[in-house]
Amino acid sequence: MTTAASKKPKNEASASPFPPALQTKLAKLGLHTAHDLLLHLPLRYQDETRIHSIANASLGQAIQVEGEIIDTTVQYRPRRTLVCRVEDDSGMMTLRFLNFYPSQIKQLAPGKRVRLFGEMRHGFFGMEMVHPQYRMVDENAPVAEALTPIYPTTAGLGQASLRKLVQASLAKCDLADTLPHDVLQPLGLPAFAESIAYLHQPPPDAPIELLAERTHPSWQRLKFDELLAQQLSMHQHYRRRRAQSAAPMPPRQRLTRALLAALPFPLTRAQQHVMTEIASDLTKPHPMQRLLQGDVGSGKTIVAALAALQAIENGFQAAIMAPTEILAEQHYQKLSAWLGPLGLRVVWLAASLPKKEKQAALTAVAEGEAQLAIGTHALFQEQVVFRNLGLAIIDEQHRFGVHQRLALRQKGAQPHQLMMSATPIPRTLSMSYYADLDVSVIDELPPGRTPVVTKLVSDRRRDEVVARVREACLSGRQAYWVCPLIEESETLQLKTAVETFETLTATFPELKVGLVHGRLHARDKAATMAAFKAGEIQLLVATTVIEVGVDVPNASLMVIEHAERFGLSQLHQLRGRVGRGAAKSACILLYQTPLSETARARLKIIYENSDGFEIARQDLLLRGPGEFLGARQSGVPLLHIADIEQDQGLLEAARRIAEKIIAEQPEVAERHLQRWLAGAEQYLKV
Ligand code: ADP
Ligand code: MG
Repeated sequence: MTTAASKKPKNEASASPFPPALQTKLAKLGLHTAHDLLLHLPLRYQDETRIHSIANASLGQAIQVEGEIIDTTVQYRPRRTLVCRVEDDSGMMTLRFLNFYPSQIKQLAPGKRVRLFGEMRHGFFGMEMVHPQYRMVDENAPVAEALTPIYPTTAGLGQASLRKLVQASLAKCDLADTLPHDVLQPLGLPAFAESIAYLHQPPPDAPIELLAERTHPSWQRLKFDELLAQQLSMHQHYRRRRAQSAAPMPPRQRLTRALLAALPFPLTRAQQHVMTEIASDLTKPHPMQRLLQGDVGSGKTIVAALAALQAIENGFQAAIMAPTEILAEQHYQKLSAWLGPLGLRVVWLAASLPKKEKQAALTAVAEGEAQLAIGTHALFQEQVVFRNLGLAIIDEQHRFGVHQRLALRQKGAQPHQLMMSATPIPRTLSMSYYADLDVSVIDELPPGRTPVVTKLVSDRRRDEVVARVREACLSGRQAYWVCPLIEESETLQLKTAVETFETLTATFPELKVGLVHGRLHARDKAATMAAFKAGEIQLLVATTVIEVGVDVPNASLMVIEHAERFGLSQLHQLRGRVGRGAAKSACILLYQTPLSETARARLKIIYENSDGFEIARQDLLLRGPGEFLGARQSGVPLLHIADIEQDQGLLEAARRIAEKIIAEQPEVAERHLQRWLAGAEQYLKV
């Protein structure tokens, strides 16, 4: 767990059991106490318990051999290499060192015995090892009695020293079980003391494959412990939040009903369902913290509007924060149109607003004349003061950092919080890292959507794509052309966008082509988007700024250049910009050949799936949880041993047992957290 890294002993100098130089190195590994060392588990193992004979050594495996050096020379061609010949009773082998110190030539002198550990290969002159680990030994030097653990380490801290430190903490720390027998037994998990000792010093006959795969029961036990600690800590946090108080805002159905009556469509069943959950949360006297998930186009905005109205009809203000100006502006347009006729005032706060307008908006928010404020991160800057913020809504929550979300929340005494996300959080993640949040899911799209046809097209067939764009635009529909993503350089990205725009303007003299990118002034961005929405621009060249939220139903074709460079969820989001109207829509993923194996596999996932949850799940498998966790990193106990995908069964068990323990044996929960979080306070901030 991360707690070791995030937690500092109260009095560093006296609290650390290690000498200062060692303490610094250990701190780099997030290790501060003997107890931390105990839970610092091996990356892998080496079998140094037996000595193989050179002639019968199996190839391609890391093994130990031993023999006498019979020749040592430095070769200069093709490059400087130290070459030794080593012999045992069975045969002869070669050692090669490409980087070596002069002292090594002396050390590896003919006549000495050397014990080697490395991968045996078939070299040009027979058996050989390149850069093996080696150690000079006397005849009949004893072999290791346990498999040798290899730990994650840092410069200047050798495996041998680390091993000694771990052994010392094994001897010193309390290894008593935190979990009662009746919890462990049905799960078939061994005792903690036994498991931890086994992992730090497995016996010579230990199944090294099971250890390497981390499926051995000892690994299972520690993974379970870690997952359980995470669940317990999330529960604790959840309960702490329930203990705080917030203003109850029961549904008065005055404004909400008026809006529903004015809408040109009925809510979907799924929208109604999540609205009931939110309405009930807002009624409670403690702060709501709900995550609203729904695939792109599922209709989260209207749900946000209804939630805002429930706060407003109780005399509170609401705020909606969006990650980009384009999206904030679009929300502003939409919500003004919905709320204006109800006699409410909506203001827009953008960093780029002219001074006078900004001042007017700020005053309206401070004096309570504006019931709803919409904006980007500009919303939580210091000058923004709400009269009584009751509900903070965060759209595309994963785009915001912890601090930004926290800052908005702190604008109100204890506002309710609704987070929305179109990047669906896969089930395993929401069961682990998001376990402290309440989650609502909009699991159906509004009716009448035409599925988007996805096409994978090689860059060599660009001409066909150009023809298709022309045809669509000339027949009255509109298209997006998404520029390649260049993660390394924003300048280069900008340059590419401008060049693409110029090329396409020349390619399509009969069309009106527009360009939006992140560096454009907000006002120009808004003007271009408005022109596209109004149909004055037929082809919109864009960077990923259009990835979230943009809603132009008449746009039915999207071309994404260098699709292989985008993340899967990103492609899915982009694709969600089309297929919003009645026209048959298509998304063309242009890729550069040759395509790597992985790139091909990823594009195939997008091609084959239209369900955002499934795509997110596959993305999680391919890229790990980092992408999703961006905004959750602070305060959540991260997992170091368990892997939520691989260990899904254990995760489910941990979740079940956490609930049981908290209800029936709170002292067990306390003891377990004490071991795994080492007493650190685990306050989740957002
Ligand atoms: P997202 O969940 O991606 O934010 P939006 O809220 O932008 O989706 O909604 C996408 C489109 O669907 C909008 O044009 C919106 O007006 C429309 N919409 C939302 N709910 C419904 C519904 N129940 N029936 C028909 N159209 C709807
Ligand atoms: Mg949206």
